[in-house]
Amino acid sequence: MVLATIPGAFQTELLGGALCALFIVIWVIFLLIAIWVYRDAESRGMSGVLWLIVVLLFGIIGLIIYLVVRKDKVQPMMTQPYGQPPWQPPPSGGMPPPSGPAPPAQMTCRNCGSPLAPGATFCGKCGAKV
Ligand SMILES: [Zn+2]
Repeated sequence: MVLATIPGAFQTELLGGALCALFIVIWVIFLLIAIWVYRDAESRGMSGVLWLIVVLLFGIIGLIIYLVVRKDKVQPMMTQPYGQPPWQPPPSGGMPPPSGPAPPAQMTCRNCGSPLAPGATFCGKCGAKV
């Protein structure tokens, strides 16, 4: 019966390889589902790691449990990990420009630069009109 068992063993090995490949494919699909559950749970304010473990341990049953138990998505704006604060600091730093003591309202001649008397219309030095 040796000749009869060899083909059978070969066939079983081939079948085992196919089952192994099928198992890997299923495992990858479950891994993707578990990753989706992790991200979905985190976006709902639930423990993503906990549900990741549940799905990995219980498979499709864990997925069903998660779909039943999971909370409704509330306040999606609260869970955004990124985003700038709505307000921005003023570009001047909040400090007024240093004005110092107010300079005397003395006018100077545009032509020669000499100081003018208040209310003068002509420069007393060069005679140019102010
Ligand atoms: Zn002048």
